[in-house]
Amino acid sequence: MRLRTRKASHRPVAPELAKCAQCGAAVRPHRVCPACGYYKGRQVVSVAVA
Ligand SMILES: [Zn+2]
Repeated sequence: MRLRTRKASHRPVAPELAKCAQCGAAVRPHRVCPACGYYKGRQVVSVAVA
């Protein structure tokens, strides 16, 4: 029965999420926050504010 071993490689990726220190949005670690553009306390990407 090979199905079990095949499925083992299909397991979902671990939900790696951190909280943005600036806006509190769920962001991925070591990534710029997509919501506010902040990373490590400073804004590195300008986000268009509506
Ligand atoms: Zn943010």
